[in-house]
Amino acid sequence: MKLLILGNGQLGQMLAQSSIQLGHECLLINTRTNQVMPAGAHVALSLSIEDAMQWADVVSWEHEQLNPEHVALAAAKLLTDADKIRPLTHRQLEKKLCDSLGIATAPWQAFNTADEFQQAMQKWQQSVVIKAAFGGYDGKSQWRWAVGDDIDALIATAGHQPGIIEAMIPFTREVSIVGARARDGRILCYPLVENVHRNGILSHTFAGYEAVPEHLQTAAEEAFKAVTEHLGYVGTLAIEFFVVGEGDNAQLLVNEIAPRVHNSGHWSLTGCNASQFDLHIRSLTNMPFPELAIQPTLMVNAIGCEQIPTELWQSSITSAFWYGKDSRPGRKVGHVNFRIADRAVAERTSEHFTAALQVLS
Ligand code: ATP
Ligand code: MG
Repeated sequence: MKLLILGNGQLGQMLAQSSIQLGHECLLINTRTNQVMPAGAHVALSLSIEDAMQWADVVSWEHEQLNPEHVALAAAKLLTDADKIRPLTHRQLEKKLCDSLGIATAPWQAFNTADEFQQAMQKWQQSVVIKAAFGGYDGKSQWRWAVGDDIDALIATAGHQPGIIEAMIPFTREVSIVGARARDGRILCYPLVENVHRNGILSHTFAGYEAVPEHLQTAAEEAFKAVTEHLGYVGTLAIEFFVVGEGDNAQLLVNEIAPRVHNSGHWSLTGCNASQFDLHIRSLTNMPFPELAIQPTLMVNAIGCEQIPTELWQSSITSAFWYGKDSRPGRKVGHVNFRIADRAVAERTSEHFTAALQVLS
């Protein structure tokens, strides 16, 4: 089939690689310039965006901030209704969606004006995170407040756009489920993975270590099914959760839903016989899903560093990925997957290499 991806960042490139492996053709759109790009090169083709849309059998995206003009051009070739995805780009609507599907989230409250923000804040008797309704990523456009802190100081920043106030959750860990739903409704999910954030940015992921209680896997897959079926979603999607409580009493609270391939699924590029990018392409083209074979993998993001250290390009247990982007503090520029069977060794490795690979600010 002929696939067109809206977005030509690292996620678009990795989707294109999977398309090629699975026997499909793939072009990418630079969504800022509207240029049509081949995979693997930043050289625009002499093809208009309209012609590329005409050429494609199926149009999909690497990020969910869709330009309405692109949606209009893609018309019937988008397999997921773009209108249904819109709530996931707006934190108030995303929370409402979870509430309507009966999926637990952190307690939250919406505000739309500085006055509403100020009034709403009076009622909170616990630490909160304030998040702008749109545009935040990697912990940006978020503010924290603890009981006793000055509220006035936050009005000009946190309160000057629509947003939500969310209870600060004393989570025991953060996990995410990444899975895919095919055109014919088949669903396949990876086991839950554990994510560690630094400064609100995903730092590293432990995948395949079986540290998460079984009932949480069931709950996560139920949430995945409810969300993707409600959205009529086709492709790979991720749900981030907070885990509260321990053992049999542990429970999941949804933090965010990302209707796309997700950073916490990058371990699957080398830790599984089918990556999250493969699953996205298989979903769009209605190919069979494989039985999953998973190897314990630690994924460490390269953030704001100038390069990946040579030893990580040379080691037999690592697979390094460099996105070819300019580096600046806090920007994801690559990642390294480590094949490590022992969780304690993976922990120590993450401590060592986050220091070498991450410049956060
Ligand atoms: P991204 O899109 O990169 O996943 P984001 O900027 O959209 O991140 P969130 O996922 O909402 O932001 O938050 C980033 C991180 O900040 C979370 O993974 C978590 O570590 C912390 N955080 C956010 N909200 C809360 C909360 N209510 N309680 C505790 N920690 C939180
Ligand atoms: Mg997040």
